[in-house]
Parts: sequence; structure tokens; C-alpha cells
Amino acid sequence: MKHEETLDPSDWDEIRKFGHTMIDDMIDYLRDVRERPIWKTIPESTLQFYEQGVPKEGRDLAEIYKDIQQHILAYPMGNIHPRFWGWVIGTGTIEASMADFMASVMNSNGGGGNHAANHIENQVIAWSKEMLGFPEESSGLITSGASMANLVGLTVARHHQVNHDIRKTGVSDHKLWFYGSVEMHSCIQKSIELLGIGYDNLVKIPVDDDYRVDTALLEKAIQEDLDNGLEPVCIIGNLGTVNTGAVDDLETLADLAEQYKLWFHVDGAFGAITRITPSYNHLAMGMERADSLAFDFHKWMYINYEAGCILIKHKKSHYQSFSLTPEYLSHNPRGVHGGDLWFSDYGIELSRGFKGLKIWTAISDHGLDKFGRLAEQNIEQAKYLTELVENTPQLELMAPTSMNIVCFRYTAEHTDLNALNEEILIRLHEQAIAVPSYTTLQGNYVIRVANTNHRSTLQDFDILVEGVVRIGNEIYQDYSV
Ligand SMILES: *Cc1c(COP(=O)(O)O)cnc(C)c1O
Repeated sequence: MKHEETLDPSDWDEIRKFGHTMIDDMIDYLRDVRERPIWKTIPESTLQFYEQGVPKEGRDLAEIYKDIQQHILAYPMGNIHPRFWGWVIGTGTIEASMADFMASVMNSNGGGGNHAANHIENQVIAWSKEMLGFPEESSGLITSGASMANLVGLTVARHHQVNHDIRKTGVSDHKLWFYGSVEMHSCIQKSIELLGIGYDNLVKIPVDDDYRVDTALLEKAIQEDLDNGLEPVCIIGNLGTVNTGAVDDLETLADLAEQYKLWFHVDGAFGAITRITPSYNHLAMGMERADSLAFDFHKWMYINYEAGCILIKHKKSHYQSFSLTPEYLSHNPRGVHGGDLWFSDYGIELSRGFKGLKIWTAISDHGLDKFGRLAEQNIEQAKYLTELVENTPQLELMAPTSMNIVCFRYTAEHTDLNALNEEILIRLHEQAIAVPSYTTLQGNYVIRVANTNHRSTLQDFDILVEGVVRIGNEIYQDYSV
């Protein structure tokens, strides 16, 4: 008989030893993150390593581990570092990463069935409703992120608002319209495109000086579209825009949605978490009136990638938007494919990893209140940075700080400030001082600090400001000689 093979190790003690070493190294890796440069340019030899072809024969695990240390662990994005504030990116926790390992060994498929992974994901969804003020009977789904959560929410909006079976006939007989502000995240437009609605039908309403949607213009647009026989479907509210952290007037948006019988969707990717802060929960006022709410665990809940969530108040519409159960997926009354926990009936994906365990473990370890305090700490740090900027003559605040995002720039006379600030940002990264990112506000290139970092201290913001001023002065002097 042919020799039968398996991917399991031939020597379990050897893999155990390897595992222990790996865990020790990774704990040190995280413990010492502050001492290492936040980011490094990847050298040519390592770039070549990434281009090697597929190995036909296996290699010794110890050798592979050396490669991982040399070529992979050495060149991280940097977002676990205390001075990473680029884009809106989470920082992770050690216990969540350990939970990920356990979930990975279990290797459950969360598409459906009666096993612990689905019960835990269901519990995490129940905790989410509790923490964000959604009724118990709401439905939900743990997703890879807020992009997927927004797509699921807007799909249900489309299904719920259109009176006949849009799954059968598609959207071509309809003139569906969605409304939000110009500050909406790009994933909303992608969702609208994927839903076959076309981005011409995503109305982007202008914002005021605080980057909040102009609700009077919004109402006018809805009214005009109704008068023209179009079908307004959904209002999308921003709870923390990606550019400046602005929060739309969610109460007024909820009122408008009620008045015009539209779906109210809130993109609270990071901002939703303000609801559990001790002193800034007013920012999320009106969020609980949404029909659907998309948010991330991997941003301001600091959970390791990937983890987002959608909550929906109309469970039946949620189910009807996605459920499709061929014979090979039929749910049985008993056994492993028994029970009600079929998440594949509530989203796009069938096979799903067990993302719930890391969320469940981190929240259990620290308690929800601590996450609220940490988000508050980030907001206070953003205020501190705002004051530093305002008290530094070479710096200029470029948008109001309403939450955890600070937009500012180096300023000087008679020079191209956009080019100057772009160069400052690049040197901040290259000199491994800190990693903010940038955005463009009213044509101005601005340095943007989005603080969802539970490792940052006030001193880290001092280091950032000193770095920006020093580099800015250096470049400005070079330009002027
Ligand atoms: C990050 C973000 C998204 C997209 O979420 P992902 O988790 O990156 O998919 C959507 N909306 C806002 C406001 C965001 O900040």
C-alpha cells in the first residue's frame, strides 16, 4: 500500500518546542516595540526574498523561522508602535493574538452550525448591541471590517425599502437614491457600485465648516428627488469621518429618515466607540436610532485585524437579503448543522474564520469600561496635541478637533506649503520618528494624526511636534538658501 501522508508533525515534541520559542519571541517583540524603529525601508535583498518562487520541497521549520524573523517580522507596518497614528489603524492586544492562535487551532468554520465558535460570535454580537444601544432582537454579523459591514447594511437597506423582490429582478427597474455627505468613506461608494445602483445615485451633500453634513441641503435633495418620481432609499450618517473625525447631526438625520420613511444607516467605523466613553458619549447621540450600524473592533476597540461588525434592527429583512440555502447547506434539527446560528444567511461569505474569540477574550480580560476609558484617553491626547499645535508658531491647526483626529501643518511664508508638508511627512516616516498620515482639506495638504493607539502617551505627541518643527525648519532653510 502507498505510504499515507499528513500535514501533522512527525514529532510533536519538536513542534511544541518551536511553539514555545515562537511565543516567547513574540511576547518580547511586543514588549520591546517602543525601542525599535517604527518603520524601516525594506532592503533590496529582502524584496528579492519576497519574489522567490513556490518551493516544491519543504524546508526545516527552524530555517523558515529565521527567514520570518529576518525578512518579515523586521519590516512591520509599524501600527503596534506607540507613535503610529496613520490612517485610522488599530494597535492590537497580546491576549487577542493568543486567542487568535487558539481559534486558528480549532479552525472552526463560522458559516453556520451548532458549535462553540458560532455561539461565541453570537454572544459578541449581543455584547455589541448592549454596548451600542441596539435592541436585543436586532441581528448582526461579525465581518472582516467596516467596509464589509457597510456593504451588508446597505444591502439590507436596499432590500427592505424596495417593495418587491429585488433579488429576483435586480435594480434596473428602479431609480434608487442614497444620501450622505461629501465626507463619506470611499467604501460606501464601493458598496453602492457593487449593489448595482451606480455612484451617480449616491448623493454627496456638502458639509459645513465643521465637516458635518448640511441637513437643510439634504432635505432639499430628498424632496426634489421625490417630486421627480425617484425612489429615495437611505440616509447615511457619519459618526466620525475618516478625514477629520466629524460627526453628522445624527438626531436630525434620524428625524429626516423617519419623516421620509427612509432607511437610516450609520457608518460608525471608529466613532461608534465614543458611546462607551465616560465623558464623550454625547458624540454618538442619535446613533441608536439607526436601522443599521457599521463599526470596527479593529480600530478603536484595539482588537487585532480583522474584526468589524454590522448591527441591524430588522432581522427578517437581514435574513431575506442574504439567505439562500441549497440542499448541501440545509440546516438540520440536530447535529453539527443544527441550531439557528447560520451566519451565512446574514452575509455574503459562507466560510468564515472564528474572529469572535479574540474580541471575546480581550473584552473579557480588560472589561468593557477600560475600552471606554482608553478611547477617552485618546480623545484627551488629541486635545493635548491640538493645544501643542496652537501654541507652536510654526504650526497651524487645519480642522476643528472633534474627536481623536488632529489635522495640522507646518506653515511658513513664501513657499509651497503642500510640497513642504509632504516632505515633512515622508521624513517623519523615514527618520522613524512617528507615523501620521495626510489628507487634503480644501486643497491644502495636511498632516493627519488619527489616534486609536492604546500605547501612546502625552510625551509621544511632544516628540511628534518637535520632529515636525525640526524637519520643517531644516527643509524651509534649504528652500530659502
Ligand atoms: C476605516 C473606515 C471604514 C472602512 O473600514 P475597514 O475596517 O477599513 O474596512 C469605513 N468608514 C470609516 C469612517 C472608516 O474610518
